[in-house]
Amino acid sequence: MTAIVERTSVGEACRVTRRIRGMATSDGAGVELTRVIGTPELAMLDPFLMLDVFRSDNPDDYIAGFPAHPHRGFETVTYILNGHMRHKDNAGHEGVIGEGGVQWMTAGRGIVHSEMPEQRDGLLAGFQLWVNLPAAHKMDPPAYQEYAAAEIPGEGREDGVSVKVVAGRTARGTAGPVHQPLTEPRYFDVTLAPGSHFAEPLPAEHNAFVFVFDGEARLQDLDDQPVAVGKDEMAVLSRAEGGVRLQAGGQGARFLLVAGQPLNEPVARGGPFVMNTQAEVRQAFSDYQSGNF
Ligand code: FE
Repeated sequence: MTAIVERTSVGEACRVTRRIRGMATSDGAGVELTRVIGTPELAMLDPFLMLDVFRSDNPDDYIAGFPAHPHRGFETVTYILNGHMRHKDNAGHEGVIGEGGVQWMTAGRGIVHSEMPEQRDGLLAGFQLWVNLPAAHKMDPPAYQEYAAAEIPGEGREDGVSVKVVAGRTARGTAGPVHQPLTEPRYFDVTLAPGSHFAEPLPAEHNAFVFVFDGEARLQDLDDQPVAVGKDEMAVLSRAEGGVRLQAGGQGARFLLVAGQPLNEPVARGGPFVMNTQAEVRQAFSDYQSGNF
């Protein structure tokens, strides 16, 4: 565990409550990945239940994929940087997420799906984020929002800054294709030229994180005390406090900026099911085993 860095501020600045690197783990049929949210160190960041980071050019790390498995009660968001992932569910929905593409899947009351690499070699890199659903919508019908790279708008800013807007709307008015009014997520893929600055207001009550996956960045608070966030490191902005402001290091930086409205509800987890009570989790296992998904 890294040191807790407390920052308090107002306006377009943030409070970095901590920086974490996550833990190496394996999931599915043996996919090597780094879990950054959903660990003993950071169990969740309401409404975000899990963040997995995968990046390998060794097929042994990913080729086994994620054979058929169920989900209920939340959303899985798969964003692919490199490579291709094929998904297929028990309702006949099937497709391939390609480079720069996103699948925002609302599992709702339940789906059974597989997620398998559509490649035998080469680099596979990306993220899977789990976003919780409120109690009143956990049993909604499953739904998909799927967009290829060309359908995700890019916002060019001055100073060598560009933002791919997957979900939510930037302060400059670029809106992503994904809509989820229940948690109002923002999901931005931001690239900064060396030394360039980026600032973005966020709803004060949102929880947010910055996950740097190339280069490094320095998050600023009102005192101009920079908090360095290195490659493969997450800065947790527990309550976004109005926004985020940061500067890229000498190699530039690329990072995810993700924010969402916390649900503030009880969370009961059981593997691929995330409900409000353990009784509901047991019901999910029962429904799955009896073929009612
Ligand atoms: Fe899945």
